[in-house]
Amino acid sequence: MTEMSQILIIEDDKVILKFIKLALETNGYQVSGTDQGSIGLNIILNQNPGLILLDLGLPDIDGMQVIDEVRKIKTTPIIVISARGRENDKVIALDHGANDYVTKPFNISEVLARIRVALRNQEKVFEDQKFIFKNLVIDFAKHTVKMLDQEVHMTPIEFKLLELLVIHQGKVLTHNFIQEKIWGYKTQDDYQSLRVFMASIRKKLKSNSIGHDYILTEVGVGYRFREE
Ligand code: CA
Repeated sequence: MTEMSQILIIEDDKVILKFIKLALETNGYQVSGTDQGSIGLNIILNQNPGLILLDLGLPDIDGMQVIDEVRKIKTTPIIVISARGRENDKVIALDHGANDYVTKPFNISEVLARIRVALRNQEKVFEDQKFIFKNLVIDFAKHTVKMLDQEVHMTPIEFKLLELLVIHQGKVLTHNFIQEKIWGYKTQDDYQSLRVFMASIRKKLKSNSIGHDYILTEVGVGYRFREE
């Protein structure tokens, strides 16, 4: 690692806090930790960490409130640590501006991978207006999609959806977020047309590729374009 990144962990479970802190330090990150949301906000203001790992259930203020306060002033990546079975919390946290989430009990290598993705994808810049990943080539200027050098026809909406996913490669996009970006509005809990479009894009990409599933479904949350 050429750059030391400071990571702030806001987590009131002392065992988990200690465990993550140690793992991150072993991997070359500078780490600060607190069990209070309000102290966390102070650290964010004064030390400007490069990334925040945030537990939602905190003793003083709600994690969701921490996200809101941070997003008023900063774009720092936030990865939420959510409790098992709280699917809706993830969606709400992502809609509030969190970048990603991990679910307890988590695998530390998964947390490290998510951190790398979040730090890398802060701003995605495409060279020559092209996105190239495995056998897929998307030309944003020409509006073309190629798989193994064969052109794949996408409808305008499908192209916009695919573009949105790859711009945020590695990040979970919620159903609400996608609907707002593509259609400009949210339809509460009715994602049927979105599902149909996604299925169509996947089918087109799959029939032309050798086994790669480029778009991952995050059950009950949304979609993610794969990173590796
Ligand atoms: Ca907690």
